[in-house]
Amino acid sequence: MIKKATEYILSRLFPPVCPFCECVVEGTKSAVCEDCLQQLPFIEAPRCAKCGKALKSVEDGICADCREGVHLFSEGRALWKYEGNVAASILRFKYHDQKNYAPVYAEWMVRCLGDWIRSLQIDLMVPVPVHKKRLKERSYNQAQLLAEEMGRRMDIPVYADLLYRWKNTAPQKNLSAFARMRNLQDAFAVRGDALKNRRVLVIDDIYTTGVTIDAASCALRAHGAQAVYFAALASGGM
Ligand SMILES: [Zn+2]
Ligand SMILES: [Zn+2]
Repeated sequence: MIKKATEYILSRLFPPVCPFCECVVEGTKSAVCEDCLQQLPFIEAPRCAKCGKALKSVEDGICADCREGVHLFSEGRALWKYEGNVAASILRFKYHDQKNYAPVYAEWMVRCLGDWIRSLQIDLMVPVPVHKKRLKERSYNQAQLLAEEMGRRMDIPVYADLLYRWKNTAPQKNLSAFARMRNLQDAFAVRGDALKNRRVLVIDDIYTTGVTIDAASCALRAHGAQAVYFAALASGGM
């Protein structure tokens, strides 16, 4: 009773806000407004068999990016295309303290990618880490928040400290694909030996060319991971 009343008062004081358009959504559990639900750019088949990006036709098999280079992960998928309201929402989640988006995102990740993740027989989830210097400035790692919410819903353990960045690399945003690769070379390291023969799902917010996931996969596999997959909120952009 008290819990219900507290919940009611809190929902009046801080009504749930749609993470995509920031309008107040009263009485909806998902916290995504109807308009956004209709327009969210979900990635559907045909998708790249390697990185999961949307393809124009099923005959293409894999995308141009994946055809060009060899990836170190087995396979990956993203939920949405990185564009419009989704892109703006993820930037608020990442840089503007909107930690409360994590459960909403996780709900959709599990709803849409849960069956695929279960089919991979994942033993543990690992969020893409940020360097401790940047963590201090930002106070949280958005990928870790997302991984923890997903792990709780899927009953898969999340190892947030296992993979870490020991090089504080320059932000990737404005670099070319080659410069990204150079930038991230040896950026990640692994603590402990929990990875031996384990199947790992790396969680990140945005997948672009795959350089970050490749660098993380390299470190994870060097420490015994049997297979590395990734799941991201969105993919696309450069
Ligand atoms: Zn909305
Ligand atoms: Zn691809």
